[in-house]
Amino acid sequence: MDKSKFSLESETVHADHPKNDPFGSHVMPIYQTSTFQFNSVEDGRKFFAQEEGGATHSYSRLGNPTVDRLEAILARLEGSGLPDSDDISALAFSSGMAAISTTLIAMAKEGAVVSQPALYGCTGQFLKEEAPELGIKTHFLDLNDLDVLDKVLMENPEVKVIYAETIANPTMEVANISAIADLAEAYDITFIVDNTFGTPYHVRPMEHGADIVVHSATKYLNGHGTLIGGAVIGRNSLFEEFNLATFRKNLGGVMSPFEAWLLLNGLKTFNLRMERHAENTIKVAEYLEQHGAVSKVFYPGLESHSDYELASDIFDSGYGGVLSFELKGGFEAGVELMENVVLCTLAVSLGTADTLIQHPASMTHSVMDEDLRLQAGITDGLVRLAVGIENIDDIIADLKQALPEVEPATV
Ligand SMILES: *Cc1c(COP(=O)(O)O)cnc(C)c1O
Repeated sequence: MDKSKFSLESETVHADHPKNDPFGSHVMPIYQTSTFQFNSVEDGRKFFAQEEGGATHSYSRLGNPTVDRLEAILARLEGSGLPDSDDISALAFSSGMAAISTTLIAMAKEGAVVSQPALYGCTGQFLKEEAPELGIKTHFLDLNDLDVLDKVLMENPEVKVIYAETIANPTMEVANISAIADLAEAYDITFIVDNTFGTPYHVRPMEHGADIVVHSATKYLNGHGTLIGGAVIGRNSLFEEFNLATFRKNLGGVMSPFEAWLLLNGLKTFNLRMERHAENTIKVAEYLEQHGAVSKVFYPGLESHSDYELASDIFDSGYGGVLSFELKGGFEAGVELMENVVLCTLAVSLGTADTLIQHPASMTHSVMDEDLRLQAGITDGLVRLAVGIENIDDIIADLKQALPEVEPATV
């Protein structure tokens, strides 16, 4: 029996096994080398002529065996459920932002982008500030408002890319991927989805019609908070049409072998970690929702969330590990909670094994113009929690002791 007959879950656990390692190494070695030796002139000539039978690698910005191994499993994680899964490949980048900016430059050049107002901060800044200077304009709108999206696409034939996030910060709105994909197809536009929050454990955007998936591998794919990395996954034909590998090579944001090795190591427990993140997060969301000091919890796994049904249609086995909530006590209550937590780590980011908590109004967004901050949905009492894989009772106990005590309601 061939190993490929087993489930993707088992395939992921075995993903870092090298094939034909000369020393029989069990796990993929870190090929920490910038250049590769050719056995002969002919060996090198064949490599550069892209002929079979020559050297397989020449220089690590053009390709590296440890990075290749990582790319193979990333392509499987996002693409193995597709009928043309053999045509799906991945390119690893030095950061999520390198993956995103390189892809947008390659795919939207001399054109325009349509995207949503709530975007990961640096992606939003790139589209608003740098991309226009490169001649790439962005229309920001609610992508789930399909009539408006249709109108904008009809009126702006220069649009080349629709860019969405599976789950958007801070209100955790979920993109209607299949409906947006239908419009993208009708207008012959490339549809890119940032699946960092969703993760391929819960949702594979290409199965719902997206053309390209981008990731900050820094988050759940690595899972341990030990690196910065990114990835782009899509069909070879589309990568070739837009010369994406050449853009990566020449813009230069490639992943290093060490980061690829850390990712291979982290991915072995990807399924197990995601299962626990999702299990813990729904429990925390439910706990917070009934807490007297909390006015609102944003998590697509809660029935009270505006996109609960949409999320339930496209997500498997849970809704990810990030939620946000609103404290009735506003700014002061947010600061107090940050000062009181013991188990939760006061840090930005998500996707680490431990629970991370942050209060945007007093931390990440404290220098932002207040009106702009409120417009972005970042209210004074908003708290973001990236729930970890600790014992659930401990996470809830920590939040309980750190949240303001609420008088029981008198009837
Ligand atoms: C973190 C993040 C990014 C950027 O990734 P880096 O690895 O930090 O460059 C992009 N999109 C989302 C949704 C993220 O959370």
